[in-house]
Amino acid sequence: MLRAPEPEHGQTASQRYNAQRRRDSETARLYSTRRWQALRADQLTREPLCRMCMAEDRVTAAVVCDHVEPHRGDVTKFWAGPFQSLCKRHHDSDKQRDERG
Ligand SMILES: [Zn+2]
Repeated sequence: MLRAPEPEHGQTASQRYNAQRRRDSETARLYSTRRWQALRADQLTREPLCRMCMAEDRVTAAVVCDHVEPHRGDVTKFWAGPFQSLCKRHHDSDKQRDERG
């Protein structure tokens, strides 16, 4: 039996947080679909270099197909894009900035 050791606060903020987490996990599953693998491969073929590195006058192979606008768990937005190719460093720093903002 699975029993999550979560306190029952029932606060609006934590409910909002949980709802967002549910939506995030829903789109997180999409990353393992063949549809996403194909879309990602297509993006990295069309744009093989990290866009942010190029802006810094650097040439780095991109490994991540990133959503230009955060989809925030929105499945429609997840598939619609637009996308950009990023290296791992820029992808991770971009995500951190997004979470802070
Ligand atoms: Zn980069």
